[in-house]
Amino acid sequence: MENSMKDKVIIITGASSGIGEAIALALAKEGAKVVLGARRGTRLESLAERIRESDGVVEYIVTDVRKRDDLVNLTGLALTKFGKIDVLINNAGISQLSRIDELDVEGWEDMIDVNIKGVLYGIASAMPIFKKQGYGHFINIISTSGIKIVPLQGIYAGTKNAIRTITEVLRQESNGKYRVTGISPGFVQTEFISNLKNQAMRQAGQQRMDEIGIPPKAIADAVMYAISQPDNVDVGDIVIRPTVQD
Ligand code: NDP
Repeated sequence: MENSMKDKVIIITGASSGIGEAIALALAKEGAKVVLGARRGTRLESLAERIRESDGVVEYIVTDVRKRDDLVNLTGLALTKFGKIDVLINNAGISQLSRIDELDVEGWEDMIDVNIKGVLYGIASAMPIFKKQGYGHFINIISTSGIKIVPLQGIYAGTKNAIRTITEVLRQESNGKYRVTGISPGFVQTEFISNLKNQAMRQAGQQRMDEIGIPPKAIADAVMYAISQPDNVDVGDIVIRPTVQD
């Protein structure tokens, strides 16, 4: 039987903008109870207001995915308020693009901390709960960067492909106890590029995003598709690009 979104308790990291925000809005609209985490509390607050104005159910807590305790608090909030967790969406992510020989070691570390360790802390905080419940669903937002690998995206693509590998092992090890989905977006119109340190990359990336980027709702729709499948149907990998993306 198809899974209804109604009353599902769904945690979303990186919910303060872009894809995470679109996922939160779409899921809440369908009746899910969404639990939001990100560092910018004011953004989370105004998103929660929007959701409540439309009769949605939402909780949020300031969360830095680089801190394991913050993920424990985020899953703890969901459990305290709603008594269960159906889905954890590890969406928070950053990129710093540069040639490897430019040695932006700080940028590498930031991406490793958020894109890899942040996802692992999310998995670590939800796993004991999923095990106890006997069900759960991990959804990791990856990237097409790790599929078509190009210069300047080496470390970013590396962090995303680490998660692709971990996602597949998690799926195999689940033995049917929980579901595991990886979603790889291509260019999506969000604030993602605006956080690049390298100004030339920022300008070029923003122009490309403006030209071809698809709306974040396209990713939210894929999330809803994966969640809404019957319990015995696990959607593994979804790749969603603009039609014109090479
Ligand atoms: P945005 O920059 O709009 O959103 C990124 C989100 O991650 C923000 O909510 C931000 O919140 C959060 N975040 C960043 N660092 C942290 C942290 N340390 N702790 C908690 N939250 C954090 O970009 P997108 O919506 O595009 O990105 C979402 C995901 O999609 C990322 O994993 C990204 O890699 C992936 N992706 C995006 C693509 C695109 O073209 N947009 C393409 C492929 C993949 P805050 O700053 O408030 O903490």
